[in-house]
Amino acid sequence: MIQKFFTLAFGSAVDLFYPPQCVLCNKALTGKEKYICNDCFDSLPLISGPHCPKCSRPIRTRNGENQLCGICRIQPDKNIKITVAAAEYQGLMKRLIHLYKYERQQFLSKFFAHIIVEQIKKKNIESSFDLLVPIPLHWTRKRWRGFNQARELCRNISPLINVPIVPESAFCRVRRTTPQVQLNAASRTANIRGAFAVRKNKYIKDKNIALVDDVYTTGATSGECSRMLLGSGAKSVSLLIIAR
Ligand SMILES: [Zn+2]
Ligand SMILES: [Zn+2]
Repeated sequence: MIQKFFTLAFGSAVDLFYPPQCVLCNKALTGKEKYICNDCFDSLPLISGPHCPKCSRPIRTRNGENQLCGICRIQPDKNIKITVAAAEYQGLMKRLIHLYKYERQQFLSKFFAHIIVEQIKKKNIESSFDLLVPIPLHWTRKRWRGFNQARELCRNISPLINVPIVPESAFCRVRRTTPQVQLNAASRTANIRGAFAVRKNKYIKDKNIALVDDVYTTGATSGECSRMLLGSGAKSVSLLIIAR
């Protein structure tokens, strides 16, 4: 009841509880800063220089232009058309994503959506996606965390690029798996095999899908999702992530 009153009186509960300090260094924020102070923002390892257009890996090129990295040239990922990553998974970005996923700082999804969309707009590819698909969480995992971090990202990306989100019931996680982070690269593919299922084909068929996740490590999870979606008639599957 009390919470409802506050929500009505002061806007959303999220705004009410969002701290007026930088989430990374606790410095008081100025009027124009939101969530993160300018100093911490400048220290984030955002991908702004040349990178591989297929996998988003930062690379050095002579002319400063984007070009395929060595790995994508030799063995391009057949399941993922392109990867858009906002940052590298290191330093303050690693800390920020940890706050988001494990310390319930759910409001950070707005910030992450913003930096992912910045990257999409820089590449001029807003109109190449028909549908946002978050990597599904098993319901037991979702209950444990309280939210699906990828679906939260989709909710904030969707209005910024005008792309709808797939209904939760259309693409599901049907099997509980050991968290990938606890496994080595070789066991990850086997662990995730058969963990996802398309339940409502009509949403997937003929769509250019943007699969959304927080971080990319070995690509086993996104690869398996993509395999299922392409198997259900998706036209293409790309990947949008906060960091790689
Ligand atoms: Zn700060
Ligand atoms: Zn590459």
